[in-house]
Amino acid sequence: MLGSIIAAISTPPGKGGVAVIRVSGEGALELSARVFHPASKRALLEYPPRTAIYGFVKDGDEILDDCILTAFPAPASYTGEDTFELSCHGGILLTRTVLELLFKEGAVPAEAGEFTRRAFINGKLTLTEAEAIGTLLDATSREQLRLAGGEQRALLRGELEKIRNILTEVLSSTLARIDYPDEDLGEYSDAECLEALSSARAIISRLTDTYRTGRAIMEGIDTVIVGKPNVGKSTLYNLIVGEDAAIVTDVPGTTRDALVRSTSLGRVTLRLTDTAGIRGGEGLDRVEKIGIERSLERLRTAELVIHVLESSGISDEDKSIIELLSESPAAKLCVINKCDTGTPVPYEIPAVFDKVLEISAEVRPAEALTALEGAVEELFIDERLSPRHDAMVASARQQAALLRARDMLERAIEALCLGMPADAVSSDIELALGAALELDGRAVSEEITSRIFSRFCVGK
Ligand code: GDP
Repeated sequence: MLGSIIAAISTPPGKGGVAVIRVSGEGALELSARVFHPASKRALLEYPPRTAIYGFVKDGDEILDDCILTAFPAPASYTGEDTFELSCHGGILLTRTVLELLFKEGAVPAEAGEFTRRAFINGKLTLTEAEAIGTLLDATSREQLRLAGGEQRALLRGELEKIRNILTEVLSSTLARIDYPDEDLGEYSDAECLEALSSARAIISRLTDTYRTGRAIMEGIDTVIVGKPNVGKSTLYNLIVGEDAAIVTDVPGTTRDALVRSTSLGRVTLRLTDTAGIRGGEGLDRVEKIGIERSLERLRTAELVIHVLESSGISDEDKSIIELLSESPAAKLCVINKCDTGTPVPYEIPAVFDKVLEISAEVRPAEALTALEGAVEELFIDERLSPRHDAMVASARQQAALLRARDMLERAIEALCLGMPADAVSSDIELALGAALELDGRAVSEEITSRIFSRFCVGK
């Protein structure tokens, strides 16, 4: 509810040295003067903006806490509204009590993401920037931090501005031609329009090409480790996630359920599943059978399949997995494990694999990890791209908007080439511009905005 004063604890829940309570909305500064009393005895509203003021939060005569207040009058605040922040002592009951006092004085609890949502509505942030802040909070790897960081946001904004400038120029010139056909308003010739539209299309294509890498870093690749029992799948899984998440034993069939974990391998994020070893035959119990069915299901939907083989030989189970793999669009990595046992691989590796590695997951783990990182990066990362220097697309929403913009531009270019009337061309350009601007949220539907902000935590 815009117009209300919202309040929330912005620091993580629990006990801590300091807890920050953020309050925003019209009338927030007057509210602060009712609950906070500077130790200097000067009137609170006389202090210059953005000054850290020491004083007391009081409920009537009772001092609840001594703390620091900083006021950010509109529009120079995170939300663009009058805002103040109280840095209290970080006791759980204490911060709760201060918050309740603020509610008593007229504030209402902020919903998840509401501060950032208000910042977006007040033009403080674009939607892309707001999304990036959400990602920044969720980031689990350095590479993700870079991709969500300020440098990257500026790069993407720059590319978007270029597209916007080109399309608005062409559009205004085309519209001028429609509205004033007899005037010479210095508008573009068809050839110039075509050149401008093609250059906008080239920028969009360059951006959409970065999505495979952006997605591999940010959203992660659905990955499954498969193989017959006892080849070392769990050993490999634990090595990649960096802890003993899966049980490793020499008893076949110990991993029965699928374990899923998000983890980074080099620059790539994997949503990794360790599965029950795939084996057929009599004597399997029900639980193991269900586990095997799930493995097969995951095999069909994964984007990366790591098939673990043993250096000593290839079995019928392996062959049936390979048969399934040959129909799958996933990237396929063959990992021949236990190469420490000395046997040179006595079989030919089927051509279905994109890459083949020979490792010893248990005996030479560091070496194995480096080989895996290299292989997965080669499969999913465009080495020429760097989040620090190239604008990159990392969210499905942005990619979808760009693809729509590209389609519309292609239609406009085709219409122009076919000599169609200017209004047909201009309506496609307008649609392309609309789709491109969605990247910044300038024309995004309310539903999508709500979905984005609901990912935030309260206090953000
Ligand atoms: P899974 O059933 O495929 O998950 O296999 P596990 O990871 O449970 O490993 C099966 C057995 O192989 C265990 O006894 C491991 O200690 C052993 N193992 C795993 N990796 C290696 C390796 O690189 N070399 C050797 N010699 N043994 C390994």
